[in-house]
Amino acid sequence: MADIVLKNGKVITVDKNDRITQAVAIKGKHILKTGTDEDMEEFIDDKTVVIDLKGRSVVPGFIDAHMHFMMYSLFYKATIDIAYDKVQSIAGIKEMIREAASHKKPGEWICLWGYDQNKLLEKRHPTMKDLDEAAPDNPVQCVRCCGHMGVYNSKAFEIAGITSPEQYAPGEVDTDADGNMTGLLKETPNDTIWSYIKHTDEQLREGYIEFGKLMLKSGITSIHDAGTYGGQYVKVLQDVIDAGEFPVRIYEIFYNVFGKEASRKWIYDLISTGLHTGLGNEHFKVGSAKILLDGSTSGPSCATREPYSHDPELKGILNWKQEEVNQVFSDAAAAGFQVTAHAVGDMAVEQAVNAIEYTLAKVPKKDHRHRIEHCGLTDETLIKRIKDLGIVPISNPGFITVNGSDYNRYYGDRTDYMFAAESYKKNGIITAFGSDCSVINENPMLGIYGAVTRKDAATGETCGECQKISILDAIRCYTYNGAYASFEEDIKGSIEEGKLADIAVLSEDILACEPEHIKDIKVDMTLIDGNILYER
Ligand SMILES: [Zn+2]
Repeated sequence: MADIVLKNGKVITVDKNDRITQAVAIKGKHILKTGTDEDMEEFIDDKTVVIDLKGRSVVPGFIDAHMHFMMYSLFYKATIDIAYDKVQSIAGIKEMIREAASHKKPGEWICLWGYDQNKLLEKRHPTMKDLDEAAPDNPVQCVRCCGHMGVYNSKAFEIAGITSPEQYAPGEVDTDADGNMTGLLKETPNDTIWSYIKHTDEQLREGYIEFGKLMLKSGITSIHDAGTYGGQYVKVLQDVIDAGEFPVRIYEIFYNVFGKEASRKWIYDLISTGLHTGLGNEHFKVGSAKILLDGSTSGPSCATREPYSHDPELKGILNWKQEEVNQVFSDAAAAGFQVTAHAVGDMAVEQAVNAIEYTLAKVPKKDHRHRIEHCGLTDETLIKRIKDLGIVPISNPGFITVNGSDYNRYYGDRTDYMFAAESYKKNGIITAFGSDCSVINENPMLGIYGAVTRKDAATGETCGECQKISILDAIRCYTYNGAYASFEEDIKGSIEEGKLADIAVLSEDILACEPEHIKDIKVDMTLIDGNILYER
C-alpha cells in the first residue's frame, strides 16, 4: 500500500522516454508506481494520503547543479542584500551602510552583496570614498552581484594590507585617471579579502537552516555547492545535517573562495586525506575538486579570446597558466576526484578543455564526468572537443533571463554560442543547469524561462535565440542531468519506480503554459524522501 498518491495531474517523469503520466504513488522514501489514476487504485487503502493534483504538473525535485549555498546562507544574518530590487542607487546603498554602522562597534565588518553598476541610478560602481563617508570607522565590503569584484573602504584596504596596485596583476586593483585606487578590487584581491571576515558557528547554522527552507519553497531538493570559505563552513554543515535540520541533499564541490593559492592548497590538502569523489550518502557527498579560471559574464571580467564587443581594450582576467591547470587537474584526478573549473569566457573554456584532455591522457577513466562550471562562451570547435572528451558542461540559462541585453552588448554574435543548450543537445552532450545563486535568485523557473525563451525578462530583448530548447528538455537539464553530473542518476533525477521520492508539485501545467508565463509559475509542494516538507 502507498503512503501518498498524487493523482489527476501531469507527472513529468523525465524517464528515458519522457513519459507523462497521470499519477504517482509513494511508499516510504521511494517511488512505488507511476501510471494512470486507475493503476493507483490497488495501492490505496484508508491510511493512504490521496492528493488531487487538479491537472497541475509534478516534476522530479529540482537539482541545482551549481550554486553558492554557503554564500547565500550568509544573507540571512551576516550579509546585507543590495540587489536591484532592494536598492536602486549609490545614495541608497550609503544610507544602508550608515544604518548598519549605527548598530556596530568600530572595527566590525559591514558586508553587502548584490549591486550591479549597470542597473544603479548613477551607472557606476560605488567608490572607496562613498563607503568611507558612510562608515569611516568600520571596514566595509560591497560585493558586486557576480561575486568576482567588489568595492572596499579605506579600513578594509588597511586590514588587507593593500597599499598599491602593483601588489596584484594588472586590472585587479582598479585606479582612476590619476592613478589613485578607487576601492574596486577584481578577482584575487577581492577573493583574498574574504579571509579577514569571520562568522560564528551560530550565524552559519541559522543561515544554513533558513537556506534549506528557501530551497524547499523553490522545489529544489538537491544542490551542488560550488565553493566554501574553508573548514569551519563544512563542519557546521555536517552538524546541521547530523541534527536533521537540513533536508536538502548536497554534492559538495571542493573549492576555497579565498583566492587562487588558497584553492590550490585546499585541493592538495584534500588529496592528502585520501578522500575523493563519491564518499558519503544520499544527503551529503564528496563532489569534485574545483578551481577558478576567470571572471564573470556580467562583470564583465571573463577571459575572452577576442576583445569585448563594447570595449576593444577589455578581454577579461585569466587567473591560471595552462601548465598549472594541467598539474592540479591531473593530480586531483589521479587521487580519484572528478575535476572541474569555473570557466566562463572562451579563453578560459579552452584552457579547461585542454586541461581535461591532458588529464585524460595521463589518468584515463571511462566514466569520468569531468565538468566545466558555466562553460559560458564556446564555438563549434570547443563543442566538438567537449563532446569527444565526454565533458559535462554546467550551464546557467537564468543569466540570459537577468543579463541578456548586457550580454548582447558585451559579446555581440558570440551569444549564439553562450550557454549553448541546443548545440549540446544536438551533439549528445549532457548539460546540467544551475542558478549560480547568490549571483541571481535560486528560482529554477528563471533558468527554465531563459533556456526556453532566450529572453532578457526586463527588456524583452532576445539573446542567442538559436540556442532555445523545449520546456521538457529544460526540465531534464534541471533534474536528471543534475543527478548525472554527480553520478547519482540511478537513485534520483526522474520519477521512476524505486527511485527516491524527491518531488515538486507546480502551481499549474507547465507544459501547457505560454513560455512568457513560465517565470511566474510557483511551487505548491515539495517532497524529499517521500515527506511533504513544504506546502504553499
Ligand atoms: Zn559560481
